[in-house]
Amino acid sequence: MSNAYFHIQEPKNEPYLSYAPGTPEREQLKEKLKELKSEAIEIPAIINGQEVYTETRSDVVIPHNRGHKLATLHQCGEKEINMAIEAALEAQKKWAVMPWEERVAIFRRAADLVTGPWRNTMNASTMLGQSKTAHQAEIEAAGELADFLRFNAWFLAKIMNEQPHSPDGVWNRVEYRPLEGFVFAVSPFNFTAIAGNLPTSPAMCGNVVLWKPSTDSVYSNYFFMKLLKEAGLPDGVINFVPGRGGAVGDPVLASPHFSGIHYTGSVPTFNHLWKTIGQNIDIYKTYPRIVGETGGKDFIFAHNSANIDALVVATLRAAFEYQGQKCSAASRMYVPDSIWPEFREKLLAEVGQIKVGDVEDFTNFMGAVISRKAFSDITSFIDYAEAADDAEIIAGGNYDDAKGFFIDPTVILTTNPKFKTMEEEIFGPVLTIFVYQDDDFETTLDLCDQTSPFALTGAIFAEDRYVIKKMSDKFRQAAGNFYINEKPTGAVVNQQPFGGARKSGTNDKAGSLINMLRWLSARSIKEVSVAPKDWRYPFMDAE
Ligand code: NAD
Repeated sequence: MSNAYFHIQEPKNEPYLSYAPGTPEREQLKEKLKELKSEAIEIPAIINGQEVYTETRSDVVIPHNRGHKLATLHQCGEKEINMAIEAALEAQKKWAVMPWEERVAIFRRAADLVTGPWRNTMNASTMLGQSKTAHQAEIEAAGELADFLRFNAWFLAKIMNEQPHSPDGVWNRVEYRPLEGFVFAVSPFNFTAIAGNLPTSPAMCGNVVLWKPSTDSVYSNYFFMKLLKEAGLPDGVINFVPGRGGAVGDPVLASPHFSGIHYTGSVPTFNHLWKTIGQNIDIYKTYPRIVGETGGKDFIFAHNSANIDALVVATLRAAFEYQGQKCSAASRMYVPDSIWPEFREKLLAEVGQIKVGDVEDFTNFMGAVISRKAFSDITSFIDYAEAADDAEIIAGGNYDDAKGFFIDPTVILTTNPKFKTMEEEIFGPVLTIFVYQDDDFETTLDLCDQTSPFALTGAIFAEDRYVIKKMSDKFRQAAGNFYINEKPTGAVVNQQPFGGARKSGTNDKAGSLINMLRWLSARSIKEVSVAPKDWRYPFMDAE
């Protein structure tokens, strides 16, 4: 029972710690890395708050030290999924009618646990399980995750305050109900923050959730699940059901109570899920909400007025940070002939200085790619370029999986703007550059717009303002997150709401009010003070 309008202060983005030599956070993080590595843990499913151990098990290893086992994962199948659906529907009875301010209190507390006592655990588990550097872990497993939790609570409060007009004698209200049924959250390996956001944003809105983490990031995700319990999340509200795609997805999507999917991952998986939902549409009690953010073939387009030094730094960070495994990573680039020699020289000089290796050595800029499969996929693109007549590898190209899945930062130069690596998502540290003649600027803009089916992020570099305006107009549909003289990665919650278009997803902007609205189903309520006494209207009276 609410006896007041509760106010949520506009949050601030979480500041990042530096982990520079001599800082206390650096020492604490190193301690936590040592502690986590010292024992292999069991990762069970968590259904109705209970740990569930299964017969289907797999090893969780460190991608940059693949001989080191971090955990044994217990994977779910149909039996566990049915248990989780039952638990979620039972939990819904209390959770869906819990006042919103009581619900958000739990997630705001979770944010403070992420940035407080759990910060080192979230960062260290992300470094070990997903091979992120200290900086890459800090900005997302601590910073972005806390931002999602704090800002979503604030967005929800704003939505609750949005009410319709009431003329005299009538009271109109809108209440924001959770969806009837359960939400399926399916997360990718590459961001602990995204994995945490996908189940919590619907849950904050009063929904109950089955969360299927990626088996490649289950280590950090499991710690977050434990953190939610400490924050006070009631049993059954979010059920943690790791496992192989179809083993979990098929029984979930066969339930009549499935009411929405909150997905981030690749296009083929999303297309498969969407098709399955379409095939099952007759069995669902409600039309499911489908929210999915998918892949990218993100571009950097330079004009000949570009600041070359700024372009070099942006290119290096956007293409190679986290081994190019960000959905927003720059993977194709257009450079005019007139600035190419200088840009090439400066870029290659810097690429040569990038250190790749164990993320526990803080001097490394890059770690390993996530898995054996990723290693094979990415290196097959490099081998393809090596053998092609219309492309050459001008930096990197080496890879080595003896100890971990390491791939050097690689730059391909092509004379073919439709070359395979200009079109397809690689999801690794591979950048392909096409050099255009300055006179072909306009036609190359068209080419960039039409080369890939994706439209996630894109960046332009130019100092000429007329040109900036022209490029901005031309690329209106080419990117959901568009950057001017800035790298196309590193979106911040409440600053650059994130999501693409075309084949990059439904563009429901993670970490925004737009996204929260997708997990609510409004009910309009009209109440009259004095009821009419006659059913006839005045126009019916005799003249
Ligand atoms: P993926 O498609 O391999 O897997 C995504 C998730 O789907 C995983 O949890 C996986 O286990 C699950 N899955 C697979 N088959 C399933 C099925 N039949 N039923 C239910 N779940 C199933 O993607 P990934 O390799 O983990 O992530 C990388 C991809 O994610 C890239 O394409 C990247 O661009 C994209 N991504 C997009 C964004 C964005 O905001 N647009 C953000 C991060 C990652």
